[in-house]
Amino acid sequence: MGIVVLTGAGISAESGIATFRDANGLWAEHRVEDVATPDGYERNPLLVLDFYNKRRRELKSVKPNPAHLALAKLEQGRDDVLVVTQNVDNLHEQAGTKSLIHMHGELNKIRCTECETVFDCYDDITLASKCEKCGTEGTLRPHIVWFGEMPFMMDEISYALHSCELFISIGTSGNVYPAAGFVQSARSAGAHTVELNLEPSLGASMFKEKVHGKAGEVVPVYVNKILSGELEF
Ligand code: NAD
Repeated sequence: MGIVVLTGAGISAESGIATFRDANGLWAEHRVEDVATPDGYERNPLLVLDFYNKRRRELKSVKPNPAHLALAKLEQGRDDVLVVTQNVDNLHEQAGTKSLIHMHGELNKIRCTECETVFDCYDDITLASKCEKCGTEGTLRPHIVWFGEMPFMMDEISYALHSCELFISIGTSGNVYPAAGFVQSARSAGAHTVELNLEPSLGASMFKEKVHGKAGEVVPVYVNKILSGELEF
């Protein structure tokens, strides 16, 4: 894989989706332990379902911004791009990105804890919702990777990181592992590494190149540099 792009909540901020650490928004109203852990779900499934129902509804009105669109353009211009997102929104898909891994799951998917089937889901789920496959009631949960759970498709991601020439990290604070460690894997593969973020992330010193600014402004410029051949890596 030539180029691996890691994206986090910051790339969706200009589309109106609150980041994890924003002072306002849905995350500020709840403790992570309550809405983003298996224990929280066990304690109060209704609260958790409701939290993700609200976030799923939000997707009906948000649109990709110039950063998402630029990454889709990058993929159209080259055949060696993989986008790995920590985001659970669908803005990369809306922008047209096809080579995409949702390592932390998707708001528009649910999973039955009884038969493990994953379904597309665009509406609210409640404790009375039934699994379409096994028919059990109250077993549907968001197909989201919570703290303490294993992210999806780590083998594919690891393979791509160890064979890439360029690693770009966009809009992520570098707090959440394993994503925060991807830069080290890419470096050990000899890749050029760049951080495009509003401010230096926790792991900023690990990157060879850093561009700080809004994703909607800096990502299109960087993508144009790659596509024009100005950037050599
Ligand atoms: P984070 O909130 O920890 O960090 C976001 C980073 O983006 C910060 O460093 C911030 O400075 C930067 N940022 C903010 N606005 C920006 C902008 N306009 N342009 C560029 N950068 C900007 O988010 P994270 O690192 O993705 O990790 C937190 C976890 O929260 C992830 O696991 C993710 O799944 C989850 N999350 C997802 C969404 C989503 O799906 N859109 C939203 C919130 C949280």
